[in-house]
Amino acid sequence: MNHYDAAIIGAGLGGLQCAYILAKRGMKVVVVEKNHLLGGCIQTFTRRGKHFDTGFHYVGGLDDGQPLNILFQQFGLMDLPWVRLDANGFDEVIYGGKSYMIPTGFSNFRERMKGFFPGSATEIDSYSDFLEGVATDIFGSFLRAGDGNMSEGSLFSRGAYDFLTSSIHDTTLQNVLSGTSPKLTLQKETLPLYTFAQINASFILSAYRLRGGGMQVADSLAASIRRFGGEVITDAEVTRLVENNGVVDTLQIANHEPITANIIIADIHPTQFVRIAGDTSFVRNIYKRRITALQNGFGMFTANIALKPGMIKYLNRNIYIHKSSDVWTEGSQTAAEQPRCCLVSFGVPGVGEEYASNIDLLTPMQWSDVAEFAGSRVMRRPDAYNELKARKAAQLIDIASNYIPGLKDAVENIYTSTPLTYADYTGTEQGSAYGINKDFNRLAYTLLTPLSPIPNVYFTGQNLSLHGILGVSMTSLFTCAAALKEKPGLGVFGA
Ligand SMILES: Cc1cc2nc3c(=O)[nH]c(=O)nc-3n(C[C@H](O)[C@H](O)[C@H](O)COP(=O)(O)OP(=O)(O)OC[C@H]3O[C@@H](n4cnc5c(N)ncnc54)[C@H](O)[C@@H]3O)c2cc1C
Repeated sequence: MNHYDAAIIGAGLGGLQCAYILAKRGMKVVVVEKNHLLGGCIQTFTRRGKHFDTGFHYVGGLDDGQPLNILFQQFGLMDLPWVRLDANGFDEVIYGGKSYMIPTGFSNFRERMKGFFPGSATEIDSYSDFLEGVATDIFGSFLRAGDGNMSEGSLFSRGAYDFLTSSIHDTTLQNVLSGTSPKLTLQKETLPLYTFAQINASFILSAYRLRGGGMQVADSLAASIRRFGGEVITDAEVTRLVENNGVVDTLQIANHEPITANIIIADIHPTQFVRIAGDTSFVRNIYKRRITALQNGFGMFTANIALKPGMIKYLNRNIYIHKSSDVWTEGSQTAAEQPRCCLVSFGVPGVGEEYASNIDLLTPMQWSDVAEFAGSRVMRRPDAYNELKARKAAQLIDIASNYIPGLKDAVENIYTSTPLTYADYTGTEQGSAYGINKDFNRLAYTLLTPLSPIPNVYFTGQNLSLHGILGVSMTSLFTCAAALKEKPGLGVFGA
């Protein structure tokens, strides 16, 4: 049986980053991934030569000296073909039929917003100063705000909606400032202020897409892990963690020899962890009940659309189209309704090419909309499921066509995914896009730390406290610091 210093379950972004750090530190590391492809939510799939992203559309804070840049330098990811989105409008929010361009840079942001809402100038200044404070000290404010230290008054223990509505009084402005909602689980009753502030602030710093797809991040990390002497095994689902003489050190793997490891890091949904580790003496029934009772955020419906050549010009920004008057309720829409919002995101074309070859349309979708099909197998889903997907895609194309003239005629092929797709491919509970729903009223229950009930087993990934590329990358540092018994920070990368 092969023995390792550290075994990582799941080759999502968090798992690969933890493996990268530990392998770079000289440990003998293996990553065990159930799928054929690496990356989990950042997988890219290719059809007829075109690349389509699944859960990676754009990232924030990648300019020199900014938070994600600092981390991605360490992970060797800054040489990838990053493309900076338009500084004058990286996101366009369409609310009440009117367009609001969101620029990068806090002084631009302030001036642009004041141009739209002159009567709210003072409130815009205070709001922008607050976000800028979080942006310039994202790690510090996280350390003060959370990771097990959920002090009263911290940014995690305050509700984002309460903050927004008490500091901004114009309801249209409240909606515009929350208008990039599909990248958050925007819920009035639960969303912690830190999550709202960290995500919005990091994108205002700078926003980037990746030419060729998010998969390159996973491939680059895997190549580095192998260069450091580590291993990455695919088509290998971990089915059970086994305890021997009081130590959980063995991973049983489908279609593969078991392996043993001193440290185990789980980049999987905690409910899945409970399933595979539930037989050990460390995982008590009370813990199982607590974890399985946690709520998951909404899933996402995506129509990945291949475009006919030379028909739709590439737009170097995202468009968030809102059809409702309260964007904070859009995450609760059901498939029986017309979509209340649509995110339009372009795939970056080849260097110098003016026309887009693909475009993605996204809208939140509930697990309850697809749960009845969960017993069916991929590629053999019932007609009703395929009809649901076709109907949703047509509705999103209808909405997007109002802002992308010619879109309907330009459609060459459509590939669709639902929360069921994510549940199948990544094992994410209920196909949730961003994992466990973090609730500022119940931080001690909903904000998990890297520590599991098993002393040598650690958690990582979006189900802890932060989702998204930046959030998961920050969490990887915290997980490795816990596993190495060091202080969290860039020091975990070693010399
Ligand atoms: C539709 C969508 C759009 C998004 N858009 C953006 C965006 O534009 N920008 C942004 O910053 N973030 C975005 N995100 C969020 C971001 O993609 C995620 O937060 C992040 O990729 C999650 O990484 P992870 O490591 O936590 O987990 P995952 O990506 O879920 O990885 C878990 C891995 O574990 C594997 N696994 C599961 N069970 C087992 C097992 N038993 N044995 C072995 N392997 C197993 C899975 O196959 C998977 O590869 C988006 C997410 C979604 C769903």
